[in-house]
Amino acid sequence: MEKNNEKRDNLIEVFHPSWLNYFGLFFLIVISIVIAVMFFINELQVWSYFFIFVAIIILLRAVFSRLTYTYTVTTSSVRSRIGIIAKHESEIRMSDIREIGIEQSIGQRVFGIGDVYFASAGTGGVEVVFEGVRAPSEIRDRVNGKRDSSETDEKKRCPQCGELIWIEARVCPHCNYQFEGK
Ligand SMILES: [Zn+2]
Repeated sequence: MEKNNEKRDNLIEVFHPSWLNYFGLFFLIVISIVIAVMFFINELQVWSYFFIFVAIIILLRAVFSRLTYTYTVTTSSVRSRIGIIAKHESEIRMSDIREIGIEQSIGQRVFGIGDVYFASAGTGGVEVVFEGVRAPSEIRDRVNGKRDSSETDEKKRCPQCGELIWIEARVCPHCNYQFEGK
C-alpha cells in the first residue's frame, strides 16, 4: 500500500524553514565574533578562540534546526517531517485539503516569512504546518492552484458532470456516467 502511494506520487517541491527564521542565532554569532576579535586585539587569544568556538556551536545549532524540518509538496499530498534520525511525519492528501491559511508574527512579517497551515475536513483540525517558510502566500497559492486544477494523481474529472472523482471509479457517483474500458 505504502509502495503504491510512493509510486504515483510525483515530487513537486521540498522546503526547509527560511534561514531568516534563525535571525536571533545569527545575531548571536555576529556578537560572538565581535567579542572574539576584541579579545584577539587585546592579545587574550585563549578567550578569542573560546568565542570563535561559541560562534561555531551556534552556527551548527541553526543549521541543525533548519534541517530538522522538511516540508514536501507532491502531486497528491502535502507533508511535514520533523526530525533527522527519529522522524515524525504528518501528511494530508491534496484532495482532502479544505483550508490553507497563513500565520505571521510581526517579526516574521518583517522578514517575509510565515507559517502555512493545511487543514482537512476530516478532523476539523490543522494537520500539517510549514513553519517559518519564505514567501508563505506564494506557497499557499501554488498548493491551492494544484488542488483546484486537481486532476491530481488520485482524482479525475467526470466528463459529463465535471465533478472530481476517484481515479479508479468506473461509474461517476454524481451522475452515473460510465467510463469506457478499465
Ligand atoms: Zn459525473
